[in-house]
Amino acid sequence: MDQRPRGNMTTPAAAASRPLSRMRVNRIFDALGAANPSPATELHHSSPYTLLVAVVLSAQATDAGVNRATRGLFAAADTPEKMVALGEEGIATHIRTIGLWRAKAANVLALSRLLLERHGGEVPRDRASLEALPGVGRKTANVVLNEAFGEPTLAVDTHVFRVARRIGLTSATTPEAVEKDLVAQVPKRWAKAAHHLLILHGRYLCKARSPECWRCPVARDCRYPDKPTAPGVKRGFRKEGEEAGGLKENLR
Ligand code: SF4
Repeated sequence: MDQRPRGNMTTPAAAASRPLSRMRVNRIFDALGAANPSPATELHHSSPYTLLVAVVLSAQATDAGVNRATRGLFAAADTPEKMVALGEEGIATHIRTIGLWRAKAANVLALSRLLLERHGGEVPRDRASLEALPGVGRKTANVVLNEAFGEPTLAVDTHVFRVARRIGLTSATTPEAVEKDLVAQVPKRWAKAAHHLLILHGRYLCKARSPECWRCPVARDCRYPDKPTAPGVKRGFRKEGEEAGGLKENLR
């Protein structure tokens, strides 16, 4: 039998690839924001410079691992001048516990030198100058512009990429294209917070292997087709109120 769609009939695949309505996108970010009203980076820092160094160190490393390493590093050097004085070997001593430490030590030293040479020791506030620093790509620049300077940039890391695709905010397959889709849709009032809201949601609830959809505040608007039920709860017998659990509560 010919099962091709006729006339106005829409296939499930076509429906899933349609953009979410503005109303649903608003509802998603309102729910994420209500669950986590003050989202912020979990990387410890005390200035734009220490934030920049922490973000450079965080590539392919956990925030907790970076925080353990920077505790000693920033006690020894929390300015470009002190970092240059510490030298590559001195930096390496503090960050050996995180991945790619050799390359990262070299980058932290080189970017500190460049900050002194080109920017008077300050972290620049423009993307081009940031991306010209060793070890700094688009994602790192976006995080620094957002967290240190309050710009409405949206860095796409592995969590943001996964969460945005699962919810149906994008079907793009590259970080740059996902960023473009998100920036075009995120409501203005959530533009500055969106990056952290999506990261924290992915880190603690919409996890890569086992999303906890039964307590997700955006489950009703999320298009992910394989939502698991709570452990011990059969599909169709979810307890009342389980799905509405807040992210803030879940983060504790
Ligand atoms: S419903 Fe599940 S897949 Fe969708 S955002 Fe929530 S946790 Fe992620």
